Amino acid sequence: MKLLDWYFKSNLLVRILLGLVLGAVCGLAFGPAMAWVTPFGEIFIRLLKMIVMPVIIFTLTVGAASVHPAQLGRVGVKALMIYLVTTGFAVGFGLICGNIFQPGKGMTIAATAAEGVKADVATPSLIDTLINVVPVNPFGAITDGNVLPVIFCCLLFGIGLAYARNNEDEKVQESGETVFRFFNGGAEIMYMVVHWILQYAPIGVFALIADVFGKQGAEAFGPLGWTTLAIYLAFVGHMLVVYGGLLLIYGLSPLAFFSKAKEAIVTAFVTRSSGGTLPVSMETAGQKMGISQGVYSFSLPLGATINMDGTAIYQGVCAIFVGFAIGAPLTFAQQMTIIATSLLASIGTAGVPGAGAIMLMMVLESVGLKVEPGSPVAMAYAMIFGIDALLDMGRTACNVTGDLTVTCLVAKSENQMDMSKWGDAPPPSPSKGSVLDMSPENP
Ligand code: ASP
Repeated sequence: MKLLDWYFKSNLLVRILLGLVLGAVCGLAFGPAMAWVTPFGEIFIRLLKMIVMPVIIFTLTVGAASVHPAQLGRVGVKALMIYLVTTGFAVGFGLICGNIFQPGKGMTIAATAAEGVKADVATPSLIDTLINVVPVNPFGAITDGNVLPVIFCCLLFGIGLAYARNNEDEKVQESGETVFRFFNGGAEIMYMVVHWILQYAPIGVFALIADVFGKQGAEAFGPLGWTTLAIYLAFVGHMLVVYGGLLLIYGLSPLAFFSKAKEAIVTAFVTRSSGGTLPVSMETAGQKMGISQGVYSFSLPLGATINMDGTAIYQGVCAIFVGFAIGAPLTFAQQMTIIATSLLASIGTAGVPGAGAIMLMMVLESVGLKVEPGSPVAMAYAMIFGIDALLDMGRTACNVTGDLTVTCLVAKSENQMDMSKWGDAPPPSPSKGSVLDMSPENP
């Protein structure tokens, strides 16, 4: 009883890490004799797979329907475009780092069942993938687990819903609101179910990792460390090169930016939630960066919902890791597909802890790497999942930095930024105060 009490009351992160460490220790100590835990791992993979489609359908529709069409004016379109472009860079960055570091190369997970996997990996060409984004039958796409077409439908449906909710005709508006409430409720329920599934995660992680280490031995440590290094270097590189470069182009000092954004970045790192960090990033944007409320009140929540550069980087590197780990490195066409899927998947990732790891499944499936229980892909995925907390911290920090960067760029280009906060003398009253005068002029 005490054990159960401890289990449900202690910190989930600690429990998952404990599962990871115990799994590795037991796998190393007992080797293939740990095979009896395999079903526990399979149940975990099944639970995650079960939840992927409903999560996408509800959260993406609500995300798209939450943007007021009127806000999709100049500022909205600008923010949206920059968000998409930076995320495109992010996936590219992830894939470049993945190709340089080649995480997972030399692992032998494939040796056990390479045949079946190779057959799975035979994916359609890039052009076919693009055409297939438009489904002939949306419900067929859902039952077949085809992620891209489902995302496409949900986005379209969500945008339609946004228009319905804001329609001049009261009847249409009312029905729009009703449908929105249904989806919103569904999304909330999904978060709850994910929360419950995560309660099982420590056991699932223990079983999966014990399985991997039981079969792989100590050599599984190296690739995980290497993957983490590749992902973190890509995070830092993206933040310095892409965000830093864009800030410079727009005439803003990256140093000043990072010094102002540090609380938000640290909060994101520890909470692992873009949504949860929103109050801090809003305060940062308004008080420290001098951005007008009209810009940040729209751009930051939008960013916390759809802009996940860190998640996109993580998905790119992890897909490469899984490809190498199972002995079927991703081809060029598959990597191009990963760019498209990660971009869309990151849009559909909720700003809550661990969401990116669930979305990674669909990114993998888009290139034929099906996370079937007991398959090598599932084992490679489990290894990544075992260290997800560590990876989630970095990617959330990167996500929130991206939201703030884009908000700065939009505000600067729209003249919606109090430049005195950036050390520039305010043009209208040059004689007043020094450049270090941080007195609040605009409440
Ligand atoms: N935790 C991330 C965020 O809130 C999402 C993810 O898991 O990738 O931004």
